[in-house]
Order: sequence, then C-alpha cells, then structure tokens
Amino acid sequence: MDIFTVIYFIAIFTEMAIRAPISRQQRKTPKSNRRVTTQEKILLGLLFLAMFFIPIFYAATSWLDFANYSLSNWAGWLGVAILAGALLVFWRAHADLGLNWSPTLEIREKHELITNGIYGVIRHPMYASQWLWVIAQPLLLQNWIAGWSNLFVFILFYVLRVRAEEKLMLEQFGDQYRSYMEKVGAVFPRF
Ligand code: SAH
Repeated sequence: MDIFTVIYFIAIFTEMAIRAPISRQQRKTPKSNRRVTTQEKILLGLLFLAMFFIPIFYAATSWLDFANYSLSNWAGWLGVAILAGALLVFWRAHADLGLNWSPTLEIREKHELITNGIYGVIRHPMYASQWLWVIAQPLLLQNWIAGWSNLFVFILFYVLRVRAEEKLMLEQFGDQYRSYMEKVGAVFPRF
C-alpha cells in the first residue's frame, strides 16, 4: 500500500472519531420531524460504498488494478493538503452543529438553528468538507474507480440533499432561515 492510500484511511478513521461521540448521543435525542426517503437511503449507501468499501477493495485486493493510473508525487501531496482542509472543516462543523447534526434529514424536539462559528461563514460546511474530500480522493487513490466514484455519487447527493434540507429548514425556521440564506453562502463564503 502506498503512502497516499495509508493517509486516505487515516483520514477516514479521523472522521469516524470526530463523528462518533455526536452520533452516539444524537440517536438518543427525540425527533419531531423525520424525512428519510428511499432515495436518501440509497444515496447514503452509495456514498458509503464509494468512500469506504471501494477504497478497501482497491487497497486490499488486486481486482481494481486494471484501472490504476499514476500521478507525480506533488499531486499526491496536494491531495493530502486538500484532505487536511476537509478534516479541519469537518471537525469545526461538528463542534458548532453539535447535537443538531444527524445523518439524515430530521428536526429534533429542541432543534436550534446554528448560524455562528463556521455556520456564520458557510451554510453547509459538512458538504463543503465532502467536496474537498471528493476532489482529494482521485489524487490519493490513483485509480479510475476507487478515486472517482465518490465524486459522481456526491454530485448527485449534494444536489438532491441541499434542496430537500433547505426546504425543511425553511418550513421549520421560516424567515430566520430565509435571512440566514441571504447573508451566508452555501459552500463558498460571501464577501
Ligand atoms: N448542511 C449542513 C448540516 C448537515 S447534517 C452542513 O453541511 O454542515 C444534516 C442535518 O443538519 C439536517 O437534519 C438539518 O436539520 C440540520 N441542519 C442543517 N443546517 C443547520 C443549521 N444551520 N442549524 C441547525 N441544524 C441544521
């Protein structure tokens, strides 16, 4: 296994470690509104496949070797830098969103609209972090399947999820969320 593949898996475990405590607690908090569709379940499953399972096959077997390519070293290190940025944003987003986070679309009984911290800079820091991740992945996992599948799945996920999520947030928080949308950009900060 090359150094970039090793770094990729270290990053996966870092994300799991950041998310684990919130994930454990949020399961216990009561929800007042859940919107989990079959489409959402399928997309989450595909994301898991593209981010975790296919990379494992790539690293542990020779099945995907036919689709390998080779980039120069600086491209790999650029990928590491982008991945580090993704982890930093991911960590801040979890620290600021806290128990309002959930893997799917749902509103908790005591749901609070967060507009401070990194949520004062962009509305979707976790998705911004995932954008950085899917850009870094083809630089680290130099394989047409293991490197790129996550990007294609995430484009689809992002478009569908953001639309549904903002609709839910508008229903829940109304003008408060509307004025938040006017002030704060989705994944790029507004100046
Ligand atoms: N889109 C955000 C959050 C993803 S987690 C991000 O990229 O960081 C998805 C859950 O977060 C949804 O169930 C939604 O109810 C909740 N959520 C999204 N934005 C929020 C905000 N500003 N404050 C509180 N909860 C939010």
